[in-house]
Amino acid sequence: MKNEKIHILNLEYSKLLRFLAELGEPKFRAQQVWNWLYSKYVTEFAEMRNLPKNLIEKLEANAVIHSATTASEQHSSDGRTKKVLFQLPDGQYIETVLMRYDKRRTLCISTQAGCAMGCVFCATGQMGFFRNLTVSEIVAQVLYFAHELAQTEEHVTNIVMMGMGEPLHNYNNTLAAIDRLTDESGFNLGARKITISTVGLVPAIRRYADEQRQTPLAISLHAATDEERDKLIPINNRWPIAELMDTCRYYIEKTGRRLTFEWALISGENDTIEQARALGNLLHGMLCHVNLIPLNPTADYSGLPSSKERVDAFQAELAHYGVSSTVRVRRGIDIQAGCGQLRDRVVGGR
Ligand code: SAH
Ligand code: SF4
Repeated sequence: MKNEKIHILNLEYSKLLRFLAELGEPKFRAQQVWNWLYSKYVTEFAEMRNLPKNLIEKLEANAVIHSATTASEQHSSDGRTKKVLFQLPDGQYIETVLMRYDKRRTLCISTQAGCAMGCVFCATGQMGFFRNLTVSEIVAQVLYFAHELAQTEEHVTNIVMMGMGEPLHNYNNTLAAIDRLTDESGFNLGARKITISTVGLVPAIRRYADEQRQTPLAISLHAATDEERDKLIPINNRWPIAELMDTCRYYIEKTGRRLTFEWALISGENDTIEQARALGNLLHGMLCHVNLIPLNPTADYSGLPSSKERVDAFQAELAHYGVSSTVRVRRGIDIQAGCGQLRDRVVGGR
């Protein structure tokens, strides 16, 4: 029986070297293949034009580049946001969103199929956990859009790990994917251009701080008291706010980097002046910034986005504590480009 083909995007450079050596190829071929994959974003081995035909055949017989298929594509009405639902070979679905604004081309990518964290307001949390994505599946989302943007001489400028899944729950593959995408002889995106968003997995944040990485971190806080956060984010029971904030301070101390806190404003829930004050007290004097995002309504949660007045009042209260914040508008709201929502519509619930 024939061996299963390898996913070439799973291979770090040293492993690609070994793979090609096993195929009887010299070192410079690995450099060429690497260049085609990560600088030219080819989708087929046949496009690797400086390789001899027999090597292309060997590669085709033993490896694949992209194994996902496009199950659905949607464009926002202003044409600036595009969302793709990919189907993976085992039938799982993941989604990736491209947002164009100003000169930026930001990708929102997935790190897991589903999510185990169960945040009540989140479409991905509502569907449950299926599995971790491989390095190849994370990287392929980026290369797919890099290839598409290259047709119009555009580039991926930023990546946010805010698609499906909890990146730090798939720590090794997420960080290996970041290493791949920031490799200077490959895709070469600046580490500071990739943001990891986490629901607040305390041990993983500590590990991340200890590794002194350049990639910025965003913490999905969404509530400033345990009473409120417990209702929204089940893992708050395991790592309550005081412990999370200790860990955030540890991160800032270790790395000297500013933290971002994410806050989805839910009408009558976490948009009260009391919550704004509690948040002001938590973050006062801290090297941080808050992103305020009116909730994107989801099928299995009755919460609604806060009104503009409530958003403004919340932001003004935070400013009294010297805490800076930005109100973010969810891009692509008309194509349900919020977390997990496209899969829901195309595939339906479980
Ligand atoms: N699991 C990670 C990253 C993926 S979610 C995390 O939770 O941080 C990316 C961001 O979208 C998080 O801040 C998350 O809280 C937020 N989010 C999820 N569902 C949302 C919704 N319905 N409306 C607004 N923000 C939402
Ligand atoms: Fe998972 Fe993040 Fe959604 Fe929570 S908000 S369920 S951690 S993807």
